[in-house]
Amino acid sequence: MSARIVIVGGGPVGLSFAIAASRLPGIEVCVIERAASGQGALPQPFDHRVYALSPASMGFLDEIGASPARARTAPVRAMQVWGDGEGSELDFKHGQPLATIVEHAAVMHALETRLTQDGNVEIRRGAAPVSMTTNDAATNVNARAISLADGSILKADLLIAADGNRSQIREWADIPVRSKDYDSDGVVANFRCERSHGDVARQWFKSDSVLAYLPLPGKHISIVWSVTRDAAKELTGLPEAELCARVAEAGNQELGGLSLVSPVARFPLARITAENWAQPGLALMGDAAHAVHPLAGQGVNLGFADARKMCEVLHDRSKFSRIGDLAVLRTYERARREAAMAVGQVTDRMRSLYLSESSSARWLRNDGMRMINRLPAAKSVLVDYATR
Ligand SMILES: Cc1cc2nc3c(=O)[nH]c(=O)nc-3n(C[C@H](O)[C@H](O)[C@H](O)COP(=O)(O)OP(=O)(O)OC[C@H]3O[C@@H](n4cnc5c(N)ncnc54)[C@H](O)[C@@H]3O)c2cc1C
Repeated sequence: MSARIVIVGGGPVGLSFAIAASRLPGIEVCVIERAASGQGALPQPFDHRVYALSPASMGFLDEIGASPARARTAPVRAMQVWGDGEGSELDFKHGQPLATIVEHAAVMHALETRLTQDGNVEIRRGAAPVSMTTNDAATNVNARAISLADGSILKADLLIAADGNRSQIREWADIPVRSKDYDSDGVVANFRCERSHGDVARQWFKSDSVLAYLPLPGKHISIVWSVTRDAAKELTGLPEAELCARVAEAGNQELGGLSLVSPVARFPLARITAENWAQPGLALMGDAAHAVHPLAGQGVNLGFADARKMCEVLHDRSKFSRIGDLAVLRTYERARREAAMAVGQVTDRMRSLYLSESSSARWLRNDGMRMINRLPAAKSVLVDYATR
């Protein structure tokens, strides 16, 4: 008899895990997604929400047969980073792409196409759980059951919470979270630029904001501008021409004039770390387990690494173990939680360094950056880390 995995949340992490898990022998998979419809046609010219996918994430999507369409991806072959002091520039060049910029919509489209072609995952769209029950621990059965609003009940040998950073499943499971509200928003939008970006990602760390220019196909870029909530409200309310001028000015006119080619949106930024990721019959994955500041562009990369690791752990478990056994799920948690914590801490420290007005922080973000720029060995350590 098959064991059943129910995944709540059909975002990039939930869907990629569904595809990978459905290929494990003796496992059937069901996804519950609140949104009524899938991605559908790709937005033109580009979705305003993009990811900087690491080579490992691109490899995972390739492995599960869900590589985003090439025409919608742009490689990052070099990175330039500026501090707020004069000439504090750090530039990385790398033989292989450091990352690939891909629209959220293109990732979702590729995952949904693969799911349709495979046809072996049940997807309940426009559905959200109304309650969750756990079997009596005395019976030593770990199965969970999820009730939906239409009265149906889905039993799961393993329930995966991939329902994002405000996870309902995590709350029902009483899993505490450590959270930090950055009191800032990420403003995102796409622009056409006067000059070619040359496959270079650019980032400006200032004492009150972090701005990233990420290359898109052709002469286009996507920006993530992390600013205070008030500044984000102001930026998203600006007339188009003024916003373009502000974004070009904040980026030192590196790419000349800009014209807006997408809606402008803002997202609240917060760091969330779940205290534990596993209970009997239940595990957290993706943003439900960890959300990090987007300045390092690692959020979805961490989630794909979770999905890949969980499949590995389920595949390699002893033949006497069930997929919902706590010992199995703890193996996944041990393998992934530390990595997610480390990324969260590093991005936190980088952010604090840039927001601090202390003289040592100023020295580090300016002279320190110039120093690293002159040390090829130090730069290659940073590149290795970024491309993992
Ligand atoms: C401004 C900004 C920029 C970012 N840039 C990057 C970047 O460059 N690179 C990067 O790697 N990451 C980036 N991220 C982070 C990235 O967006 C997230 O890490 C990623 O979306 C997490 O995927 P997920 O599938 O875990 O969760 P989500 O994408 O949040 O998906 C959760 C899914 O669950 C569904 N859902 C929620 N609740 C329920 C429920 N109760 N029942 C059923 N379904 C439910 C939702 O509809 C959704 O489809 C950025 C984030 C922000 C805010």
